[in-house]
Amino acid sequence: MIDLRSDTVTKPSAGMLQAMMAADVGDDVFSEDSTANRLESRLAEMFGLEAGLFCPSGTMTNQIAVNVHTRSGDEVICDRLSHVYHYEGGGIARNSGASVRLLAGDRGRFSAADVAQNINPDDFHFPVTRLVVAENTCNKGGGSCWDYSMLAEISQLCGNNDLKFHLDGARIFNALIATGQQAAEYGKIFDSISICFSKGLGAPVGSVLLGNREFINSARRVRKVFGGGMRQAGYLAAAGIYALDNNIERIADDHRRALKLGEVLKSVGYVSEVLTVDTNIVIFRVDDQISEEVIVKKLAENDILAIDMDRQTIRLVTHLDFDDSMLAHTELVLINLI
Ligand SMILES: *Cc1c(COP(=O)(O)O)cnc(C)c1O
Repeated sequence: MIDLRSDTVTKPSAGMLQAMMAADVGDDVFSEDSTANRLESRLAEMFGLEAGLFCPSGTMTNQIAVNVHTRSGDEVICDRLSHVYHYEGGGIARNSGASVRLLAGDRGRFSAADVAQNINPDDFHFPVTRLVVAENTCNKGGGSCWDYSMLAEISQLCGNNDLKFHLDGARIFNALIATGQQAAEYGKIFDSISICFSKGLGAPVGSVLLGNREFINSARRVRKVFGGGMRQAGYLAAAGIYALDNNIERIADDHRRALKLGEVLKSVGYVSEVLTVDTNIVIFRVDDQISEEVIVKKLAENDILAIDMDRQTIRLVTHLDFDDSMLAHTELVLINLI
């Protein structure tokens, strides 16, 4: 099977497994796991923030950030496509009692003016606008990347209006590789950053939340409440360190292969639209005469797994376990599918 449902399906390589088995570990709830500590401080330094916190998932790092930044009854501004709104089980409301103001951006990207128009006035009728969340790359936007200048403008607006600014950077390394932006620039404009190791970086488990020391101290408290305090977490964190050493530059291969898939899809009759391919995600719409379920089923009959994302919409994601020979097979199947 060629599994293009997500970049979360990768299995750890032999080298990664070896690094995991050799990890020096301790009890991470006591902050005594040297490997988890090393991953946290290395990533914090890389992104120009003070501290990090290793957590089981990107949903948890996002939800902890929302919880620390807001109080019950506050409002969070994010795009209508954002993961934190769509795919985290309503956690903003459930975990933090906050409401959401959705923006209609361009493939998940919005401007400082969009944010400014949606900050509530200082009037007791309205929820207090407290937090803005940006997602880079934006999954539902087809792996779209932000211009750094747009993020910097939003950051400045947040600073002027007493708002916090959180980055859902589940795939931030895809964005950095695609744009040539520098990790350290991100710490200058965000109050907190969530980064996943189980996506393009190819680790089995784990996300890190970054912020200043005070924020991470609060986040550690919330992580415990959410049940995310892990003991010998270093076995997992070691996979993250291995990924930082070995799996960043190679992300460019995933982008090249995704671009190729996008080109092929543009040339076939059953596809009506392909979102611009910026990184490793290809989202396409199937012609109205055919249901996307039929296409997903036909692909599966040809050993290719894809995700039925929305009505008429299918997603393919390239990753570290998808190579050039699989790409060649997938191209042939897509061309001859119907
Ligand atoms: C995958 C993902 C997350 C976190 O998902 P988990 O499966 O909980 O690790 C967060 N944001 C985006 C954009 C994602 O794609």
